Amino acid sequence: MACRQQEIQSQQKNAKKQAGQKKKQEHDQKAAANAALIYTCTVCRTQVPDPKTFKQPLESKHPKTPLPPELADVQA
Ligand SMILES: [Zn+2]
Repeated sequence: MACRQQEIQSQQKNAKKQAGQKKKQEHDQKAAANAALIYTCTVCRTQVPDPKTFKQPLESKHPKTPLPPELADVQA
């Protein structure tokens, strides 16, 4: 029954491989989400993770600087 055993082993190997790929995908999505959450002030280059905490200091620090479009809709 060497053949059958080999088949099982190769199936197990495949399952392991697929699990590894899934893990990597999840990691990439997390990294992408994290990157999307970081806003950089166009004036002083301050980086903040949340637009709500970003909008207020930006408005008070640089009142004459127009808000970036992605923050214009944010309700602080
Ligand atoms: Zn700033």
